[in-house]
This record gives sequence, C-alpha cells and structure tokens, in this order.
Amino acid sequence: MTATSNTLVKRIAIFGSTGSIGTQALDVIAAHPDKFSAEILTAHSNHELLIEQALKFNPNCVVIGDEKKYMPVKDALSMTDIKVFAGEKALEEVAAMDCYDMMLAAIVGFAGLKPTMVAIENAKPIALANKETLVVAGSIIMQKAYEKRVPIIPVDSEHSAIFQCLVGEGRNRIEKIILTASGGPFFGKKPNFLVNVKRDHALQHPNWTMGAKITIDSATLMNKGLEVIEAKWLFNLEPEQIQVVIHPQSIIHSMVQFNDGSIKAQMGLPDMKLPIQYAMAYPNRIDNNFPRYDFRRNSTLSFDEPDMRTFRSLALAIDAMKKGGNMPCILNAANEIAVYAFLRNRIGFLDITEVVDRAVNNITFIENPSLDELFASDEQAREFSAGLMEL
Ligand code: NDP
Ligand code: MG
Repeated sequence: MTATSNTLVKRIAIFGSTGSIGTQALDVIAAHPDKFSAEILTAHSNHELLIEQALKFNPNCVVIGDEKKYMPVKDALSMTDIKVFAGEKALEEVAAMDCYDMMLAAIVGFAGLKPTMVAIENAKPIALANKETLVVAGSIIMQKAYEKRVPIIPVDSEHSAIFQCLVGEGRNRIEKIILTASGGPFFGKKPNFLVNVKRDHALQHPNWTMGAKITIDSATLMNKGLEVIEAKWLFNLEPEQIQVVIHPQSIIHSMVQFNDGSIKAQMGLPDMKLPIQYAMAYPNRIDNNFPRYDFRRNSTLSFDEPDMRTFRSLALAIDAMKKGGNMPCILNAANEIAVYAFLRNRIGFLDITEVVDRAVNNITFIENPSLDELFASDEQAREFSAGLMEL
C-alpha cells in the first residue's frame, strides 16, 4: 500500500531534512513506516545527503536550495518519479503543495520563516523546530495560525515539555513557566575565560548534539533568549511569567506552575527524537525503545540562576522581547551574522554579544511591523552587523 493511499499514514514535509533535526525525524519515520511517510525533503547545499535520503524514502519531491546543485540531484534521481526543484522560491512553492499533512519546520534561522508562513496559509499543521520563525514574526505567525486554525506543535524540547504539561489543563491559568537551560559548555565561566574561547570548544555541548548555529547559541545563552521569546508566542505569556533556570543535567525539559502553585514537569533523557515524534504523532504517544531515565541510578538534579551579567545575550533577548516590534527580528539577524562570523573564526566569542548589542541599539525601532518591514529590518540588521565585522 502506498503512503498516499493509506489515510492512517501521516505525510510529513521535512524542511531542512539534512540537518540535525531533519535526520532524526527521518529516523523516526523509518522506525514507524505504518504511521509516517516523508513526502517533501529539502536541503540547502548538502545534495549528497539529500539524494541518499530521497532514494531511501521516495518522497513526492525534493528541493535543493543551492541552484548550482540542481543538475546533480536531478541526474541522481532521474530513474525515479521524485520531482526535483531548486532555489529559495521553490521552498515556498512546495510548501503550498497539497501532497503532505504536516510540515516539520527544521530549517535553521530566518530562512525558515517564509516556507512556514506559506504552509500556515495553506492550513497545514506545523511541527515547529525553527524557533527563529517565532522570534522574528511571532505576532504575525500566531495570528495567521489562529485564523487558519492551524496547530503549531513545538519540537524544541523545552516547549514540547511545556506543551505536554498543558495537555488536559483546559483553561487553567498558568502562573509561570520555568524554562530549563543546561547552561551550555561554559556554565560558571567568567569573561576572562570566555574571551579566549575558540570555535571548536564552543561547539562541544555537554548534553545535546545539534547543528552548529544552535550549539553556539547554547554556549552564549542566546538560545535560551530565543526560547523565552518563542515561549511567549506559543503559550501567550507575559514576559514576567517566564523564568529561566539552569539545570545542567537536562533531565527536566521545562515546567509549568499553575495558579494553585502546583508545578508540573516533563522529564526524560535528553534525546530530540522524543519531542520530534511527539509533535508528529500528537495527540498520540507512540512506542519506542529509546533509553529510559532511571531515578535510582541518578540522584542529583541541580538548579541555578543564569548569570546574565556574563552571558549578556540572554538579557539582550529578554529586553528585545519586552520592547517588542521589530527588536527581536533585529536581535536575531545580528546574532545569525555574528555566529556565522564566529564559526569562521572571524570574531571572538564575546564579540557575538557585542555585535547583537550594537545592532539592537542602532537599527530603527518599529512598533507594529508588517511582514515586509520585518524583512527590511532583517536585511538592515544583517548589513549593519556585517559592516561592524568588516565581513
Ligand atoms: P542544522 O544546521 O543541523 O540543519 C539545518 C537544515 O536547514 C539543513 O537541512 C540545512 O541544509 C538547511 N538550511 C540551512 N540554511 C538554509 C537556508 N538558507 N535555506 C534553506 N535551508 C537551509 O540545524 P538544526 O537541525 O540543529 O536546527 C534546525 C532548527 O531547529 C533551528 O532553528 C534550531 O534552533 C532548531 N532546534 C534544533 C535542535 C537540535 O537539537 N538540533 C533543538 C531545538 C531546536 P544543508 O544541510 O544543506 O545545509
Ligand atoms: Mg531547546
């Protein structure tokens, strides 16, 4: 039976299939062919992996972002009936196709925004890994999702935890959410140490293996800042209702405190496959053989306050959230450019935050930006940041 003729099989479009989240999502699909199929796969430049994935999962179509890679992909798939597209625009075109039931938004960065917007316009449920989409355009995205009655199910582990804690709570009021953070590889370190941190060291995360950009964001704590903004939009919270707590073991993935003071936590060993499969299968939980957490063997779960004076990115993100408008968009764009430069050894670790700080203080503030204005702010912040670093 083909995937499309079986209504029990959910057809997933994986935008960013060659990344850390994308490949783990394909592992989940491979483990549950009776529940999921991969109908759209997209990559930016890794055409070899895209071809390999396409031959294994036989999707309806693939997109390679880099147009120079179109012919190699087309040739390699010429014996199949898989459609091949290339270029940025093609991402939006395939997002509008009817051949899938849910988009897994797993492109990294601002580039994920447009295709996700198109999917929502076309009433496709979203499993959202790409937090930058909500950071940049949370208000517009959530409004559109509401209008189109599109569920946005978080994949980010903290937000998946909160989402899971809220299942069955109806209209019960959230007093606050407690967003846990591992603290990253430099937890407890001070600027005199951080000033000498190099790329390879910053890429070593203690608990998670992820793509390069989010790993650096985790080291600066910008990732937690982006997640605070993501949580605000997903769960309709005021900034005061979001508390960040350092929890180095990454066993509690986040918590919700309700109006009666009761706190619910979602726990488990750190493994992104769990929130990925939860989002894809929601409202069902599906069996797996992932390792289980054993309370008898692991006695210590510890908690701490984040050091926002050292890890200023978190403070900058919270400020941007409070200011609202295009500020989070500017913060995100400057951060993307600065992380890009750091990964190429063009700037130091502490410079990442410095670039973001200057951008949020120099680009014109817009209180109620349209989507076009957000695109313009993004471009402006990128140019400004690149100029600072002479990129
Ligand atoms: P990766 O860098 O591993 O993968 C990114 C994916 O996006 C790849 O498929 C890549 O293609 C594609 N891509 C990169 N740039 C572009 C572009 N300009 N246009 C189109 N596609 C592009 O990232 P992750 O999987 O780590 O992260 C993806 C998203 O999920 C991020 O927003 C991240 O914050 C979020 N997330 C990730 C977690 C994780 O554990 N990794 C945890 C929680 C959230 P190619 O391979 O060809 O470059
Ligand atoms: Mg996270």
